[in-house]
Amino acid sequence: MSQSLPCLFVDLPLVRANAEAMVELCEASGIHPVGITKLACGSHEVAEAYLDGGIRTLGDSRIHNLEKLQDLPAQKLLLRIPAASDAMDVVRYADISLNSEEHTIRALSAAAVAQGRVHKIIVMHDLGDLREGCFNADDTVALAHLVSELPGLELEGLGTNLACYGGVEPSTENQQQLVDIAHRIEHELGVKLHVVSGASSAALPLLLRGGLPDGINQLRLGASLLMGIGLNDDPIPGTSQDTMRLGVEIIELKEKPSVPVNSTALDAFGNKPVFEDLGIRRRAICAIGKQDVNFDDLIPLDPALRIIGGSSDHLILDVTETAQPYQVGDTIYFALSYGGALQCMTSEYVRKEYLH
Ligand SMILES: *Cc1c(COP(=O)(O)O)cnc(C)c1O
Repeated sequence: MSQSLPCLFVDLPLVRANAEAMVELCEASGIHPVGITKLACGSHEVAEAYLDGGIRTLGDSRIHNLEKLQDLPAQKLLLRIPAASDAMDVVRYADISLNSEEHTIRALSAAAVAQGRVHKIIVMHDLGDLREGCFNADDTVALAHLVSELPGLELEGLGTNLACYGGVEPSTENQQQLVDIAHRIEHELGVKLHVVSGASSAALPLLLRGGLPDGINQLRLGASLLMGIGLNDDPIPGTSQDTMRLGVEIIELKEKPSVPVNSTALDAFGNKPVFEDLGIRRRAICAIGKQDVNFDDLIPLDPALRIIGGSSDHLILDVTETAQPYQVGDTIYFALSYGGALQCMTSEYVRKEYLH
């Protein structure tokens, strides 16, 4: 069983090297990167590779994932704004959380007092990407005031999120707006904020061209560390994109026509399939399906093979043109998009193997 396919292979030395490169890049500009593990479902191995690469704060969107990383010597940051009903666990397993709601902040304060702890809050401001955060600067400043007044809480800083929902690219202008609000909070409260958290891996192109304004001192990096990609999934110079690959096994290999015999019904997903007649083709069926991963997110490493479709548990490939004479039992490898990696990481049917 331990060698079974499908398997997602994760190259930890490459992940560590990506982390090292991004830590070096960020620290040269006075920025502390947070290593985000959510794509890897809070994998302990991935988190360790980040720490070996110089990361000092780990972040994840799910409190359950942070719970798994408690033994690691790093600060834990909860990325997704918490549910008030999770306040006790948030205070227990996260040192810092991103927040935008008074109701939840009050619940966190009560939970911190009950546990005799201090929980740190980064107040989120929405610069137009329209996911989390107060849209109005006055509301953001008011929340910062509230955090600084409530027992059990510490105002850690100000943050924003971009390029996640609305496709708003981190820019000198929007990052400067965040710095300006941070200055306003510092002025009104007479404090120095520890953190001004600009964006995700999507901000790395801006940093690389020297456009990130002074005052931004944190970036939250996931895709760049784990996959070497950032804004628009473009590769980040100095990182590797070969950190993960999916291996699947061929369970049938036969020559068949390319058009079904008397096709009149819908496929398993309720669609009317269309076929092009290419004559008799060599077709491989692999043991993975749409229950595991969306086929559009698979990138064959053998450029001569073509994904022609499949169903919940079967992936059908056309291997007629491949130089390699594939056989039943062979393994076929794919690179993955961010979405594909996320699905494979999450599927309990895909084994994970961490290469050291
Ligand atoms: C996922 C996430 C990140 C990391 O994004 P990457 O594109 O993987 O670098 C940063 N901040 C927040 C709030 C997130 O949800």
